[in-house]
Amino acid sequence: KLPTVAIVGRPNVGKSTLFNRLVGKKLALVDDRPGVTRDRREGDAVLLGTEFRIIDTAGFEDEDPETLPGRMRAQTTAAVREADAALFIVDARAGITPLDEEIARWLRSEKTPVVLAANKAEGRAGEGGLLEAYALGLGEPIAISAEHGEGVADLYEQLAPFI
Ligand code: GDP
Ligand code: MG
Repeated sequence: KLPTVAIVGRPNVGKSTLFNRLVGKKLALVDDRPGVTRDRREGDAVLLGTEFRIIDTAGFEDEDPETLPGRMRAQTTAAVREADAALFIVDARAGITPLDEEIARWLRSEKTPVVLAANKAEGRAGEGGLLEAYALGLGEPIAISAEHGEGVADLYEQLAPFI
């Protein structure tokens, strides 16, 4: 069984873009069971030759278990608890938001190791957000660009102990 990494973060930070980049040509292996697709996509990722299972989660809008967002959050919680590492993505361009802080607080309370990445860090527009991410209390954030494929070596270095 491959080690598992769960990608977490608020909506629109680039989780699915990173997922698709890491899964690449193996996208066909993505789990598309009805009702599961929307909140938990899985695939086999390759990062600098190392293969691992990756989960693209979505679910930080609502805590009510009766609502779809509530169920999505429960799935995200389960995915992180089962994972060998959580890859927490923030948006370096948008900066840190209250929801990012809430997710960070939750991740600090979980046992799963966390790797923090500030996405959309291509160019200079992400520099402020990258600095803000230090305040999340999850160690040094790595600057990545899922869209442009930047930061791959740093991402590998941080994930390597867990995959
Ligand atoms: P998710 O909601 O976290 O899964 O985010 P998505 O992967 O759907 O991406 C949200 C938006 O951010 C899309 O318009 C992406 O094209 C954009 N995006 C993702 N990664 C990057 C990046 O590295 N740089 C920039 N500038 N935009 C990105
Ligand atoms: Mg997504």
